[in-house]
Amino acid sequence: MKSQGKNFYIEAARRSAEWHRTNIESMKRKKFDSIAVHGIYSMQEALDFNQGSIIEPIYMSTSQAYRDSDEMEAALSYEIPTWCYSRIANPSLYYLEGVLALLEGYGADIEATCCATASGMGAIQSAVDPFLVVDLKKPDQKINFVATSQVYGGTFQQFAIRKNQEKNIEWRKVVHSNDIDEWASLIDENTRFLYGEMPSNPGQAFFDLEKVIELAHQHGIPMIVDATVATPALMRPLTLGADIVVQSISKTITSGGFGIGGAVIARKNLTTNIENDEMKADFGTYIKLLPNRDNGPNISPFNAIMALNDLRTIRSKVDMFSRSTMRVAEYLSQHKHIEQVDYLGLKNHPLHEVAKKYLVLVDSEYDEQYGEKVNRYGHLMSFRVKGGGRAARDVFDGFNMIWRATDLGRIKSVATIPAISTHSQQGEEGRRLADIPASLIRLCVGGEHPDDIIADLERGLSVLDGKKYFVTSPEFSAGGASSATLIR
Ligand SMILES: *Cc1c(COP(=O)(O)O)cnc(C)c1O
Repeated sequence: MKSQGKNFYIEAARRSAEWHRTNIESMKRKKFDSIAVHGIYSMQEALDFNQGSIIEPIYMSTSQAYRDSDEMEAALSYEIPTWCYSRIANPSLYYLEGVLALLEGYGADIEATCCATASGMGAIQSAVDPFLVVDLKKPDQKINFVATSQVYGGTFQQFAIRKNQEKNIEWRKVVHSNDIDEWASLIDENTRFLYGEMPSNPGQAFFDLEKVIELAHQHGIPMIVDATVATPALMRPLTLGADIVVQSISKTITSGGFGIGGAVIARKNLTTNIENDEMKADFGTYIKLLPNRDNGPNISPFNAIMALNDLRTIRSKVDMFSRSTMRVAEYLSQHKHIEQVDYLGLKNHPLHEVAKKYLVLVDSEYDEQYGEKVNRYGHLMSFRVKGGGRAARDVFDGFNMIWRATDLGRIKSVATIPAISTHSQQGEEGRRLADIPASLIRLCVGGEHPDDIIADLERGLSVLDGKKYFVTSPEFSAGGASSATLIR
C-alpha cells in the first residue's frame, strides 16, 4: 500500500475532532438527565463505526492497529487522537470519560476533561501526585499539602503513610474544615494544593467550598475536591471554581455494585504554582497521556462500560435515595437506643446550613413534581448507639435485610462499623480526629422501600431492649468495640 503521508492522517483527525466537538457542544445544551443517558455516544457514531450498536461497545482489545507507518508515527507522537494501547486510552474509556466531564461541568460554561482510573484511590493518587514534584532549583525544600482530616480511610492511609511518612511530604490537617481561618493558617509558599472531601465519608464533614476555593486561588494553588458522596447530581465543584474533582465511581455514581473505578475530572487552565504548561492547560488529558501512561492506573474497558451503563439514571436514583434517607434519619432521631444521628439533611446537624447552600438536586426546578430548586443530602448517614461499641455490634449483627459490608453507594442498603473496618488502620488518634467512635454505625440507605429499611433497623435495635452496657474502654478505641461488657 502506498503511503498517504502523515499530514493526510493529521487532516483526517482534525475533521473527526471537529465532528466530535460539535456533537459534544450540542449535548452540552441538553439537560442533566439527557447527558447522563446519552453521554457523548451518538446514533451517527454508532452507525458509522459500531455496527449501529445502541449501547456503547466494550472494546476489550489491548491495542489499536494502524494503516501504515505514517499513521502510527502520528498517533504515537500524539499528533492525532489515538487509543494506541489500553493502558493509556481505549474507545470504551473515552465514552465514560466524556460523560463524566460533561456532568461535572453541567450548569456552567467551563471546559473539563476526565481521566478514568481503576479505583477511587487511583484517582486520588493521579490527581495529587503531579503537584507533589520536587523543584530541582530548591532540592532542600520540604513541600506540603493542606487537606481535611476527615477523609475516607483509604485516603487517610495514602496521605499519612504513602506521602507523609514514606516521602516526607507534609500533610497539614484541617481539623475543623468549616473554619476558613484554619485553612488559611496552614498554607505557606511550599503548599502545593488544598484538598477537601465533602461530605466526608463517614463523618459528613462539610465546608464552605467557595471560600476555600478563593483562598487556594489567592495562593496560586489548585483546589481538589473528593465529591464521591455528593455525586454530580447534587454538587459540581468545578462549576463553583474548583480545579479538580475526584470521584470513586465504585460508589453512588454507579450504585449497581459491578466493579471498582475512579475518575479525575479537571477544568482546563487550572491554577497551580508548578511550572508545567501542558499540565496547566488540560490536566485530565495530561495525566491520562503522560503520568498514567507511565504508572498504569487507568480503568479497564469492561469496568468503564459497566459504570457508564449504571450512571444514566443517577439523578433520579440520588433523589430517591435522599428522600428515603431523610425518613430513616428522622425515625432514628426519635429512637430510645440512639445517642446521635449524623445526617446533613437534619436541621439540627451543625453543618446543615452550609450543606444546604451546596447540596441541591440538579434540575429539580425543571422537575414537574418540584418546580423549584430542592435540597437533597444523599444517602450516607451514621448513627451512634447508646452503650458503646459492644452495643453497636449487637445492633449491627441483628440486621436481616441491610447488608453488613464495607461498601456504600449501593442500590441495596449497606451498613458498616467504621472503627473495626474502613477506619481500623488509622488508629485511635486518627479516629478521634475524624470523630469516629466505636459506637458509630455507618448506614447507606438503598432503593428498597423505606418502610422495610426502618423495620430492619427496628429489628436490629430491639436487641438492646432491656440490656445495659458497661463501657470499659475509651470511645475511640477499636478494642472498645469488643471489650465493653454486656451486663445482662
Ligand atoms: C470509597 C471512597 C474512595 C476510594 O474509592 P475506591 O473506588 O474504593 O478506591 C475515595 N473517597 C471516598 C469519599 C470514598 O467513599
